[in-house]
Amino acid sequence: MKRRKTIIIRHPMLKRLRDNLRLLIIKAEGQEFHKLIEMDEKLLFDEKGQPVKLTPEIRQQSREIERKKQALERALDKSICYCTVCGKYDKDMTYNTQVDKWYCVECYRDLPGNLKPEWHPEYPITKAQMVEFFRRLNKVGAKCGASFRHTRHILNDMGVSHNDQIQFINICKEYGGYNDAEILMNAQRDVYTDFGMEDEFNKMFYQ
Ligand SMILES: [Zn+2]
Repeated sequence: MKRRKTIIIRHPMLKRLRDNLRLLIIKAEGQEFHKLIEMDEKLLFDEKGQPVKLTPEIRQQSREIERKKQALERALDKSICYCTVCGKYDKDMTYNTQVDKWYCVECYRDLPGNLKPEWHPEYPITKAQMVEFFRRLNKVGAKCGASFRHTRHILNDMGVSHNDQIQFINICKEYGGYNDAEILMNAQRDVYTDFGMEDEFNKMFYQ
């Protein structure tokens, strides 16, 4: 079962639109937060800046303001507007069900395993097919660029159906493989690990 999701936008114009929207929401939250702080100060201090005598009503109102502030913060914290770790708002984000927060793709990749939900992708290809696929993709590695051209070509050639190709590519995307080159660089190791072949992978590339 898929227990995390990544939202990727490639088109520069859509990306700008998304980033501006996120910024707008972040700014609106900031303004709202600031208003609440001012309300609280007006409530607790007189015109000379001296603390007023706290009546039960004032305490109650101040508590209510505090509650609103926390709710605002929590809402933004859980939103896709910015990365929980690096704070950037102009990134593709991955949702982590384990902690109910969004991370940018890079920060998510660097999270320790115990903060990531367990994820067991269902592969539409066999172990032997996976090995053959990567053997062939590595061969053309130098030609791999910012498309799935070689991936699609190899899977086609191996007789993997269109739907199964999409399913396999989607798993690779979860591992940061958004094109041929990234499938090799980012996804390959994780896919090998999923098939219980991490040792074989290490032998191929580190010995
Ligand atoms: Zn980040």
